[in-house]
Amino acid sequence: MGIHPRLIDAHSHFDDVSFEPDREQALQRAHQAGVLEQIIPAIKTAWWPRIKQLCQQTSGLYPSYGLHPMFISDHLEEHLAALREWCEKEQPVAIGECGLDFFIDDPQPELQHYYFEQQLKIAAEQGLPVIIHARRSVEEVIKTLRRYPGIQGMLHSFSGSEQQAQQLIEMGFYLSFGGPITYDRAKRLHRLIRSLPLDAILLETDSPDQPGSQHRGQRNEPAYLPEVLAAVARLRQQPPEQIAEQTADNTRRLFRIDS
Ligand code: ZN
Repeated sequence: MGIHPRLIDAHSHFDDVSFEPDREQALQRAHQAGVLEQIIPAIKTAWWPRIKQLCQQTSGLYPSYGLHPMFISDHLEEHLAALREWCEKEQPVAIGECGLDFFIDDPQPELQHYYFEQQLKIAAEQGLPVIIHARRSVEEVIKTLRRYPGIQGMLHSFSGSEQQAQQLIEMGFYLSFGGPITYDRAKRLHRLIRSLPLDAILLETDSPDQPGSQHRGQRNEPAYLPEVLAAVARLRQQPPEQIAEQTADNTRRLFRIDS
């Protein structure tokens, strides 16, 4: 292995049960690949404590707490009060993952909107950035965010248009990219990566989901982040070191990490 630039995985569900058997080894593989830090976004209330525990016992892992739109039927009104309280106490780096997903069966859009906006309010109150999941909903997300000016954040695994990307950047948002950009057929994403300013881009794995082309059908893990870096460098014809440094700086700036 060559010398790797220092990377941050801007979106990794490293608390997921699929890492139970070998989390320590997966962390070592990540470190060997230069991925020294990870942002760990939450999915639902029941799993907040395991994120807290993981981030407490492992340096370089930063928690974010929220209620994921794909798990809308698991969320209860009282979880919002619990989120507010939990975040006041735990001081996470962000609120999320939250957002809108209109791809799932029975999406219950009104309920999704309700939980999304309540989480935006908590982020605004506590001065935290938001981690947003937007699937078949980027336009709706932009419309919603316009009602909460001043909130910053990232759209993870972004797949909107160049125009939507531009609007989001102007609103203070970063766009994060992972495994999907490593596939040859992802021409639209490739054009997008080439068109964006580097200071708006974050790199993520979304582990254990969305593996890149070299790990199709396997569990994704943070150690594969250099493959996302390589894809961005190739597409933009810029040195990987430059992409690594700038995207890691972007992640630190957004989540106010000084490491
Ligand atoms: Zn996620």
